[in-house]
Amino acid sequence: MRVVAVIGSSFFRHLLESHLGFLQTPLVFATSIAEALTATSVATDLILLERHLADGEGLDLSRALRARPDTAGIPIVLLTSSADPDICTASLEAGITEVFSKYELEALSDYVSQHESRLSAATRLSGKALLVEDSTPVVRFMRTVLERIGMRVDTFPSGEQALEALGARNYDVALIDVLLEGRMTGLHLVRAIRGKEGRNQRVPILAMSSMEDAARRIELLRGGANDFLAKPMLEEELAARVRNMVRLKRLLEETEAQRDHMRKLAMTDQLTGLFNRHYLAEIACRRIAEAGRHHIPLSLMMLDIDHFKRINDTHGHDVGDAVLADTAAVIRDTCREGDVAARTGGEEFVVLLINTVGERALAFAEAMRAQVETRQPSGIPVTVSIGVAEICNGSSTSFEAMCKAADQALYRAKESGRNRVVVASL
Ligand code: GH3
Ligand code: MG
Ligand code: MG
Ligand code: MG
Repeated sequence: MRVVAVIGSSFFRHLLESHLGFLQTPLVFATSIAEALTATSVATDLILLERHLADGEGLDLSRALRARPDTAGIPIVLLTSSADPDICTASLEAGITEVFSKYELEALSDYVSQHESRLSAATRLSGKALLVEDSTPVVRFMRTVLERIGMRVDTFPSGEQALEALGARNYDVALIDVLLEGRMTGLHLVRAIRGKEGRNQRVPILAMSSMEDAARRIELLRGGANDFLAKPMLEEELAARVRNMVRLKRLLEETEAQRDHMRKLAMTDQLTGLFNRHYLAEIACRRIAEAGRHHIPLSLMMLDIDHFKRINDTHGHDVGDAVLADTAAVIRDTCREGDVAARTGGEEFVVLLINTVGERALAFAEAMRAQVETRQPSGIPVTVSIGVAEICNGSSTSFEAMCKAADQALYRAKESGRNRVVVASL
């Protein structure tokens, strides 16, 4: 599903991206009405827009989209930060389908995900079927039926050949006859698929046979087949069973993708995309224990934005939020693979550095401090103070003790004038 989001603020774009991360096709962003008109000239399934844009009003854009034949029927969602009751009436008149609050992005992601499922259910099936069947006329018949419902089909007369193909390609469904060419029977093939860890271990299997024997059918189902189809088969029945199996598989994949997304949300700080305090504690305890066991040196950097309250007071809370997100981006860019960066509080961050202590840790912290100062997050002069604690050569310590030491060093950095790095002596 292609979703175009017309959003002026980079901060809010970032937020939307993290909430709608489950979409198979990444969000397409437009930052103005002009860009939106271009972005929607390609087939689009859903449009999200803000009320006020740099070059006009979201509701005017909605009217313009409704007037265009190619976008007249696409759902348009308005994202608003005000609770103004008149906005709903005005929106309806402008052709808006739904209004969501910017503060309730969970409700928006539910809506988008439901829309995506509806869309995929309505479209033709697409996917790849493996057909293992030794009779040429049956293959010809089944291939025609499967292709008619939108499947691409690979056919093999023997289990041995089918297994080889299963090792090389992904399939959305496997249709397996009981009696085959070669030494393998359909039952053997079913068991081999289920028994071997690999890409198609969980592929839906439809077994088929002309044998009336109930015991055989049960054996196949016990062996791991999901369904059974008696021969000769009706075209409608074959199509309906395959459709059901492929849709069920898609649904499962979707659920798994959503679960992964939720897992990621649970360990991520929404504003910055860094890990949150909860996940940091979990991973840091593990890393510190490992470091102790394997004599790996490790540092913990605690970083706090200087006079952040002043930034909020001078520029407002929204700009404060944007500064936090941009400072986090500088931290992320400076980190190397394997480093763990988290936002642990309001304007406080922690970075865990593996295999880096002493001069190198100090240089790393100093580089990060300088990066923040030169990059001016959100165009505002920002500085940070950093406290560093480290463990060397298997000396054992806890996450709490490291945090405490880094925090004391950070306090000294603040006391001695801010915008500097202080290393704790553990
Ligand atoms: P110092 O240099 O001593 O660290 O001074 P400071 O002003 O940075 O520290 P202080 O602890 O006095 O103020 C931190 C401020 O951060 C206060 C709080 O309102 C603000 N803050 C905390 N969380 C957020 C947030 O998520 N967004 C915004 N915009 N501000 C936040
Ligand atoms: Mg056969
Ligand atoms: Mg501060
Ligand atoms: Mg602070």
